Amino acid sequence: MKKTAIFPGSFDPYTMGHHDIVLRSLNLFDEVIIGIGYNSTKKNRYFDIDLMVSKIEEVYQGESRVKVMVYNELTSTFAKNTKANFLIRGLRNTTDFEYENTISQMNRYLNDELETVFLITSPQYAAISSTVIREVHRYGGNVSEFLPYTI
Ligand code: ADP
Repeated sequence: MKKTAIFPGSFDPYTMGHHDIVLRSLNLFDEVIIGIGYNSTKKNRYFDIDLMVSKIEEVYQGESRVKVMVYNELTSTFAKNTKANFLIRGLRNTTDFEYENTISQMNRYLNDELETVFLITSPQYAAISSTVIREVHRYGGNVSEFLPYTI
């Protein structure tokens, strides 16, 4: 059976930490769908959603096993609709763990065919967070080292 995994997140912006998780996931799964959760009525992103989709697509241009999609529904429903049987999340620290633990229990309840798989961050990317990158970018700092594309 084909192993399809979704990697859901806000990706505001998509970082080297996310990129590392996707590259490692390609060793485990046949296909990885990067799903950007987005509510078009809220519009509360910092980086434009269409810009982020095109930047991520650019990163995986030569890799047909990676797809980028935007979704506006429960992650468990998005998994059913894409026929994904795995959900990937990255873990940096115990704060991530506490949050992810709760979410994964709920996702299991909502979709019992979906297995959440956690990958521990590579040490060189452990300190990278989209929140901090947004703040640095907002005040004109250079964030290029933390992104797998140019912005
Ligand atoms: P969300 O808003 O759903 O938390 P994010 O875009 O912040 O989405 O993150 C998506 C996933 O990537 C989460 O599982 C998060 O823990 C993980 N992640 C974020 N930054 C890193 C990093 N530097 N290394 C590994 N995983 C990360």
